[in-house]
Formats: sequence, C-alpha cells, structure tokens
Amino acid sequence: MKHNFGAGPGILPHEVLKQAAEGVVDFNGIGLSILEISHRSPEFEAVLAEAVKLVKELLNVPEGYSVLFLQGGASTQFALVPFNLLPQDGKAAYLETGVWANKALKEAKNFGNVEIIASSKADNFTYIPKDYTIPADASYFHITTNNTIYGTQLHEYPKSPVPMVADMSSDIFSHPINVADFGLIYAGAQKNMGPAGTTLVIVKNEILGKTGRTIPAMFDYPTQVEGGSMYNTPPVFAIYVSMLTLRWLKAKGGVEAIEKENKAKADALYVEIDRNPLFKAVCAKDDRSYMNVTFVCTNPEHEKAFLELCDEKDIVGVKGHRSVGGFRASIYNALPITSVHVLIDAMQEFAEKNK
Ligand code: PMP
Repeated sequence: MKHNFGAGPGILPHEVLKQAAEGVVDFNGIGLSILEISHRSPEFEAVLAEAVKLVKELLNVPEGYSVLFLQGGASTQFALVPFNLLPQDGKAAYLETGVWANKALKEAKNFGNVEIIASSKADNFTYIPKDYTIPADASYFHITTNNTIYGTQLHEYPKSPVPMVADMSSDIFSHPINVADFGLIYAGAQKNMGPAGTTLVIVKNEILGKTGRTIPAMFDYPTQVEGGSMYNTPPVFAIYVSMLTLRWLKAKGGVEAIEKENKAKADALYVEIDRNPLFKAVCAKDDRSYMNVTFVCTNPEHEKAFLELCDEKDIVGVKGHRSVGGFRASIYNALPITSVHVLIDAMQEFAEKNK
C-alpha cells in the first residue's frame, strides 16, 4: 500500500473504501447498487439522514442550524455565500490568507462591496495576520481556517461582531469547533469527509433571506434547507461515502480523538523538519497547519533527489504546490501515523546520504 500524502482528493480510510465498493455492487444486500436506486427511496433517505445526524453529533451542531450536502465544490460556495448573505449596497469583510481566500473574495465583489481587512499576500501567505478589526457594519466576515497550499492554519478563531463565515475545506472534522461562533461553515468533502462531489454547508437559519435578492433555486440556501438537500437529485455516491467516513470517525472517538492523532502526526513531522539540516519549514511557527505540512530543502538542488527517494519508498503526493515549491505532506484524518514515520525515516536516510 502507498503512503498517501496527497492534498486532495485525499486519503480515505481503507475500510470505508471497501464498504463503499460493496455498496456500489450491492447496497445492504438489497440486490441493487446505491447508484441505481431512487434518491427518494427509503434506503437513500436513511443514508442522507444518517450523514446529517453524524455531522450534527460530531460537531455538536446547536439548534437553529441546517446541515446541507450540496454540489459544485467549495468554489461554488465562494459565490453562493455573497449571493445569499451580501446585499447589493452591503459590505463583506474578508481575511486574505491564500489563493482560496482570494478566490472567495473575488466572487464576493460580483455581489457587493468587499473589504480585505488584513492580508499576508506580500509574504506569499506564510503567516496568518492577527492584528485587525472586523467592521461591525459588515454583513459577514469570511475566513479560510486552513490554507491548504501554504500550510498555515488559524489555531484560534477571531471573535466577530458579525456572522462569521468559514471555508473549512481542508480542516473540517480534524478538531472540535464551536459551531455557534459561526454563521456559516462550508467544506468540500474531498479531504477529511469523503470523495469529491459534495460540499457540506452548515448554516444558521436566522442569517438567511435578508438580501432582498431573487436567487435561482439551486443557489438559494433557504430552498436547499426546505428541500433537505434534495431540491434536485443529490450526489448520492459522494453523500454515501461521506456518511461511511463520518461513521468511521465516530467509531474512532470523534473529533476530540482524531485531534490528538493529528497533533501527534504533525508534531513528529515538524520536529524532524526543524531538526534535519537538509530541510526547513516555510511558515510562521505559530501558524503551522496540522493538516498540510509544507517544507523545502535548505539546498534547492536536493529537491528532485528527495522526491525520487519518496517514490522508491511508496510515499506519494508530497510534491509542493507550484506556488510554494518544495514539499507538502498532507496528513488528513485517515492518514495513519505509521505513514508519517515512513516519511520521517526517508528524511533521515536522505540526510545520512547527503552529509
Ligand atoms: N478552499 C480550500 C481551503 C481548498 O483547499 C480548496 C481545494 N483544494 C477549495 C476551497 C476549492 O475546493 P473545490 O475544488 O471543492 O471547489
């Protein structure tokens, strides 16, 4: 088996993949595939209901919030958030911490005014800005909790005077959160929740329906809430595999237990990066991500050879994003700590060889 450090679509638990494969051939012994039954059948309705219930349980979602499984990826939410929450003459505040945050705020500009209240763009997004004031007259404040490309993460969330909207695509379900601090949370499934094809949205009902805009049904959160994510045919396979992944997470002890594992994995890797003279980290220490660990070779000429060594050891997906270079080890929930140790061993072997 390979050690899968890919940034996304990322590693899924092996047992989930096996269950999903079974369900594709014969779902729960009914003699039909999960892919060839009506989404309105009791069988699929039970899958969706369990997925929603697991999200509520795992994240302790309070009353007054709706849980949706939508389509179009997190990138669609970049537009649906302002479409639904930003009146034409209104203003939205954004924290610019990377390319994804930047794409989100660009979409918002199509719907109203956007204020970038802080940005780390000038330093290639190697840290999370902390010194800023969130304007109290904004319709909402948008953050990206984990910056997949750069390997930075907000370890503390700001207190916002206006509804806080968070893109949690790459760290949802990796640690406990207080949903009540947020107006809306969204996350593409394909890192910690399941396969690409569905996007989780958790929204506080009372912030909806205030823009005075007519919104096409598929893009209108209240319509999706009313339809229970079934205004149209939902992405049945992606929801099914997400449900299986959330079941797996619950059986492991939920987000509290997985947070401990994630920290152990990240800490072991950062200790090695800081210790090993051939490698160095690129981001501010306080803002280092527990999900995407970015680093480079102290001598850039070594990078190709290290990637070749990784390849020999069945370590895949560690090449850094083109805008950062070097390496990115994504250590999502499903990646076992044994894979992290294989990577650390490779780094040590590489240092021995290049003394
Ligand atoms: N936000 C973040 C933080 C991401 O990491 C990604 C994808 N890697 C996206 C948004 C875009 O997601 P999608 O491809 O589902 O539109």
